[in-house]
Amino acid sequence: MLADSEPFSLYIHIPYCISKCPYCDFNSHVVPVIPETNYTEALKNELDTYATKEYWNGRTLKSIFFGGGTPSTFNPKSISEILQKAESLFPFERDIEITLEANPGTVDSKNFSGYRACGVNRISIGAQSFQPHLLKFLGRVHSPEETRQALRIIRQAGFENFSLDLIYASPGQSLSDLKADLSEALSFHPPHLSAYNLTFEEGTPFYRKYRAGKIRPLPEEEEISMAEMIEETLAGECLERYEISNYARGEFQSRHNLNYWQGGEYLGIGAGAHSYKQIGDNDLLGHRWHNEENPGCYMEKIEHEGQAVNGEEKADSQKAAGEFMFLGLRMTRGISVAAFSRRFGTNPDEFYPQISDWVKGGLMEEKDGQLKLTPRGLMVANSIFVNFV
Ligand code: SF4
Repeated sequence: MLADSEPFSLYIHIPYCISKCPYCDFNSHVVPVIPETNYTEALKNELDTYATKEYWNGRTLKSIFFGGGTPSTFNPKSISEILQKAESLFPFERDIEITLEANPGTVDSKNFSGYRACGVNRISIGAQSFQPHLLKFLGRVHSPEETRQALRIIRQAGFENFSLDLIYASPGQSLSDLKADLSEALSFHPPHLSAYNLTFEEGTPFYRKYRAGKIRPLPEEEEISMAEMIEETLAGECLERYEISNYARGEFQSRHNLNYWQGGEYLGIGAGAHSYKQIGDNDLLGHRWHNEENPGCYMEKIEHEGQAVNGEEKADSQKAAGEFMFLGLRMTRGISVAAFSRRFGTNPDEFYPQISDWVKGGLMEEKDGQLKLTPRGLMVANSIFVNFV
């Protein structure tokens, strides 16, 4: 089947937040007044533009993800208008997954019933921690009680599918802090949970403090003990690890994120959003592009040109193979050796001779045609991934 007749995923970026967290390197902005009406119009116009392109025209959508920033700063009316526009241009699959990211301080019961009513069927909530001292360190503006209240509202609004985000390995965090976070998170029976280790990304205030020696990351052994505690605790609650940082019960794995990791096509709209398409059946190396990051410039470009592309890249086989590996190996099921060979004309271990060393060293294994990281390999995944970029 040609890629351009298959269902695809839609990412919608809402770039506004009520405050900027010091570890955040996402395209998020704090403004005195969020220009919700104009930004919503721009998103709808951008969808119209893509619908006129032969490659996307009339194709079916399998997942939509409102990410940010903080999409829960937008009213259900705006979210509804965007979804209606999307559905009028790209038919929805019957079981489409529609996720909206929310932050606890922005959860209000009327809005969440409104999101549910207009078709959103999954919420991803940024709890991060239930310990006041860790929320303070992370610069989060919500309290643990606001998170508890948000989780109650999400349930009451009828969301059976929701995900809770935690951050671990913050300086000053102890194993008992983490234990308490996991225990409280699990008391809400989340069908999906993401646990991200804190990283110090270039350009953030945390990075500058780290470089100046004002913040010291946790020692590696402590971080590893935390990662082990997370996996053991969540496995005991039937939350299976299916990606480096993601755990789900049964069928609640994030379909939208699986599409990214499996190299599926996606259209990204909004300020700074990234898109990916396979060009055609003779060129399977992929084509990526991204939008203007500044929300004001994004809206202006959309108004005048209907789109806001600010950079693009056609991958060569080296880059495309690297992406295939580091995205696919994030999943615990790993990559299909046959799929790699079909696409790149050779086996992964011929393309990357280091693979045999990783297998011998117990970091990777091949089983039933899948090449994957072992539990030990998942612990040092980043040091393996650098070989693919
Ligand atoms: S709420 Fe999320 S997107 Fe906004 S600044 Fe904090 S980490 Fe970044």
